[in-house]
Amino acid sequence: MTILKTDKITMRFGGITAVSKLDMKIDKNEIIGLIGPNGAGKTTCFNMITGVYVPTEGRIFFEDKDITGIKTHEITKLGIARTFQNIRLFKELSVLDNVLIANHMRLDSNLFSAVIKTPDYRKKEKKIKEKSISLLKDVGLEEVMHEKSSSLPYGKQRRLEIARALATDPKLLILDEPAAGMNPQESMELMEFIRKIRDKFNLTILMIEHHMQVVMGVCERIYVLDYGIMIAEGTPVEIQNNPKVIEAYLGVE
Ligand code: ATP
Repeated sequence: MTILKTDKITMRFGGITAVSKLDMKIDKNEIIGLIGPNGAGKTTCFNMITGVYVPTEGRIFFEDKDITGIKTHEITKLGIARTFQNIRLFKELSVLDNVLIANHMRLDSNLFSAVIKTPDYRKKEKKIKEKSISLLKDVGLEEVMHEKSSSLPYGKQRRLEIARALATDPKLLILDEPAAGMNPQESMELMEFIRKIRDKFNLTILMIEHHMQVVMGVCERIYVLDYGIMIAEGTPVEIQNNPKVIEAYLGVE
């Protein structure tokens, strides 16, 4: 069953065409990689899917619903969550507080009740805390939940970012370079972790990644962009043996 489909999406910035007529079709529960050289248009593609940019042309469908031009927070509510290339945690806050905030943002439609702490709000607050702790257990951060998020090693900060995205109950999780800055050990653990959360939370995962071992090790299918154009699509083995990909990308690595 298709969960996400892009129909010839194009993004132009003035004279630059960052993404050109991109067609993608992603099935539920797949782990998909989006790769390509620097400036190929990968992040722009994520920005279109998550509503940061409205495509200049083309349409985006999520669970058969046309989401083109829908605002980012509405897209989050529909079930798409994202992490960023540069970690964006609340550095001074604890690990738990980072996840609590994301959960609150999802569940508190009535700010007034939060301010005066109605009994209903207190009940909700308790549930949110339980859910946040359970999420931290799932991502292996329970033991450090009271530590300041900036004190965590890099790999754990990345995990916390993912936990925060999971707090919004996504169906599609979009990861922008999850292995960036990780040491080899952390990268290996990340692959295992990505598979684990896919199964546990019944997710579909779309990721940009430059670390080839991670991409080839965890992705079931890969799209390759070069100068905004999709030059190849296939399994890791097909991509590794594709002459166009080798010439444009893998050959220069
Ligand atoms: P990297 O791997 O380095 O992150 P990328 O594949 O994610 O690169 P994008 O960041 O999507 O590439 O950029 C694609 C092209 O679009 C680049 O030429 C970039 O300069 C341009 N671009 C991206 N965002 C904007 C913007 N807001 N305004 C103008 N040009 C932009």
